[in-house]
Amino acid sequence: MAFWLACPGCGRRSVEEFRFGGEVLSRPDPDAPTAEWNDYFYNRRNVQGVQREWWYHRLGCRKWLIAERDTRDNTVVSTAWPGGVSKD
Ligand SMILES: [Zn+2]
Repeated sequence: MAFWLACPGCGRRSVEEFRFGGEVLSRPDPDAPTAEWNDYFYNRRNVQGVQREWWYHRLGCRKWLIAERDTRDNTVVSTAWPGGVSKD
């Protein structure tokens, strides 16, 4: 299913220009228990609703961005550079 993503640098583009990078995760502390690291590397929440995701604009500026996307209908709620905010 095709949909649109608004790159903060390039503007609104087809999702086919991007590469999906997975959910935005919080990295455990270096001395966290093994179970917490296993969860970080192998388990995903697989949210049915809005989730924060990494996307790479491979056919544009070649930068990583963060998008909030509703997984039920691929509606992109917002996009931003890591550490910043830019609305769709
Ligand atoms: Zn871009």
